[in-house]
Amino acid sequence: MIIEKDRVVSIEYSLTDDEGTLVDSSDGSEPLVYLHGNGNIIEGLEAELAGKKAGDHVTCVVAPAQGYGERDDALVFTVERSQFASGEKVEEGMQFEAHDENGARIVTVVGVEDDKVTIDANHPLAGANLHFDVKVVEVREASAEELEHGHVHSHDHGCGDDCDCEGGCDDSGCGCGH
Ligand code: ZN
Repeated sequence: MIIEKDRVVSIEYSLTDDEGTLVDSSDGSEPLVYLHGNGNIIEGLEAELAGKKAGDHVTCVVAPAQGYGERDDALVFTVERSQFASGEKVEEGMQFEAHDENGARIVTVVGVEDDKVTIDANHPLAGANLHFDVKVVEVREASAEELEHGHVHSHDHGCGDDCDCEGGCDDSGCGCGH
């Protein structure tokens, strides 16, 4: 069975940057399982995987435009130290999750000076070429419920500890309750 839209795909992968530094990997954990063609994974990798089948090995380099986007200098800005909870330690290199109208994003503290904190809200991998090394483990048809939700249900819907349903599920659907 080949990888095409609305099929469920399991992959083992590693992601390195231009310097060869390992950024992310499925090593030591379960394969990544996603619903193909539904924007579950980055566009550039999805395109490379289309048409492949279980056992295939794919290496590719995804440019920022099909990855996490180009860096945007407008996303680097300064806020008052007082916007952070008092007593909270704020130091360079710290990352935290911020929420805006586009959902959650990781922001990084790039500078702290007196009562000013400089924040970089670019994705940590914005502007980076993404070097993927992927092995296709399994390809299967999606269930009707998975298609309706637009994501994979790898748990058996008692909603155990590793629920994959990040939004889009409601109580009437898979019982995940998010
Ligand atoms: Zn769901």
